[in-house]
Amino acid sequence: MKPQDIKQLLDFDRQHIWHPYSSLINPPDMVPVVSANGVRLKLADGRELIDGMASWWSAIHGYNHPVLNRAITDQLAQMSHVMFGGITHPAAVELCKLLVEITPPGLDKVFLSDSGSVAVEVAIKMALQYWYSQGEKQRTKLLSLRSGYHGDTFGAMSVCDPVTGMHHLFSGVMPEHIFAESPPCRFDETFEEKHIEDLKSRLEENHQQLAAVILEPIVQGAGGMKFYAPAYLKRVRELCDEYGLLLIHDEIATGFGRTGKLFACEHADVEPDIMCVGKALTGGYMSLAATLCNNKVATGICEGEAGVFMHGPTFMANPLACAVAPASIKLLLSLPWKKTVGNLAKQLNEGLQPAKEFSSVADVRVLGGIGVIEMKEAVDIKTLQPKFVENGVWVRPFGKLVYVMPAYVSKREDLAELTRQILLTIKLNQE
Ligand SMILES: *Cc1c(COP(=O)(O)O)cnc(C)c1O
Repeated sequence: MKPQDIKQLLDFDRQHIWHPYSSLINPPDMVPVVSANGVRLKLADGRELIDGMASWWSAIHGYNHPVLNRAITDQLAQMSHVMFGGITHPAAVELCKLLVEITPPGLDKVFLSDSGSVAVEVAIKMALQYWYSQGEKQRTKLLSLRSGYHGDTFGAMSVCDPVTGMHHLFSGVMPEHIFAESPPCRFDETFEEKHIEDLKSRLEENHQQLAAVILEPIVQGAGGMKFYAPAYLKRVRELCDEYGLLLIHDEIATGFGRTGKLFACEHADVEPDIMCVGKALTGGYMSLAATLCNNKVATGICEGEAGVFMHGPTFMANPLACAVAPASIKLLLSLPWKKTVGNLAKQLNEGLQPAKEFSSVADVRVLGGIGVIEMKEAVDIKTLQPKFVENGVWVRPFGKLVYVMPAYVSKREDLAELTRQILLTIKLNQE
C-alpha cells in the first residue's frame, strides 16, 4: 500500500473503530496487516512478521492453508448459510459426528454457537436449566476459580476473575458467583490435599445453592497463563460427584492439542458434564464454538417445564464455519501432532528459559505449545509492542505476561528467530 493510503486507513481506524480492550480517547497504534501466509503476517508497508500468537490460539495450521481454503470454498459453492431452525445440513452433521468421536466418551450432545463467550453462556444456561428442571430452583450459583477467563459477555464475564475482569464496574447488574483461589500447585508439582482446601471449604459452605463448577482444565489462559497439576483437576471431579454438582470444562483455549493432549482434561483422565470448545475449532478461519454435554444433562433439561433448551442463535451452525472445522480437525489428526507439539515445547523451553536470568523477569514456563515469560512488573504495551514489530515478530503481551502460542506448522528457524527476538526485546527494554 502507498504511504498516504496507509496513513488514511490508520487515521480512520484511530478515530472510529474500537479494538479489543481499547480506548478511543487515547488510541494505541494499530499495525495494518494486509495478508497472512503460514506463520507470517504481511504488513501494509511490505514488511513481514513471524507470528507468535496464532491469532489468540486459533490459527493452529497457520494462515492461508490450502486444505482449509479448499474446504471453505467448496462449501461456498454449495451454500454459505442457511438457518438451523427446522433445517440441518451435511457440514454440521459431519462436524458434530467428529466432535462426539474425539471428545471424552460421555459427551455426545452438541450445541453449536458463534463464539467462545456464547459457548460459555450456553454451558451456564444448560447447568441452570438442568437444576430448574430437577425442581432445585435455588441452584443459581456457579463456583469458579480466581485467575480464570471465560469470555466477555455478561454470563461469561461473571465467572472470570473478579479483579482482572473488573467486576466492580458492573456491580448490581452482573450475577455474583463464588470464587475459589487459583490452583496453587504448578503443573509439575506434586498435588497435596491442602492445595484444594480453599475450593473444598467453599463447596461445603455453598453447595446447596450451586449448580456447577466451571473452570479451564490445566491451563488458566487469559486470566494469568498459569499451568496447574492434573491431580487438582481430578479432585475437582471427585468433589463435584460427592456434592452432586455438574462440572463444566472450558477447553476453548486448550482444545485441539495445544497442551500436548487433544483436550487438556486428558492430562487428568477426567470427563466433565459440559464442555466448551472454540478458538482452534476452525483452525482460525471462522468464528465458531460448541458446547457439548452428556445425556444426563440433555435429558434433565428436556424433561423440564420448558421441554426444550432455551437458546438459538441466528447464525447457529453456519455452513462455512461448519465446513472448515472438520477439515481442520481431520488435518490435525492426520499429522503427527503430538510429536509436533512436543517439539514446540522443547524449542520454546530452550528459546525462552534464558530469560530467567533477566532482572525484569519473574518466571518462565512452558507447557505444550504455550510459552510464557512472566515479568516482575506489568509491561508497557505502548512501548513494547512497536519494538516487537521493529524486530520482526508479532507478540501481544498483557499485564505482566509476554507469551506465545505459535502455529503447529512453525518451522525450527522461525521459532528460533521468534524466541531470540522476544528475549532481545525485553532485555533491551529493561536497560
Ligand atoms: C477466548 C476464551 C473464551 C472466549 O472466547 P471468545 O471467542 O473470545 O468469545 C472463553 N474461554 C476461554 C478459556 C478462552 O480462552
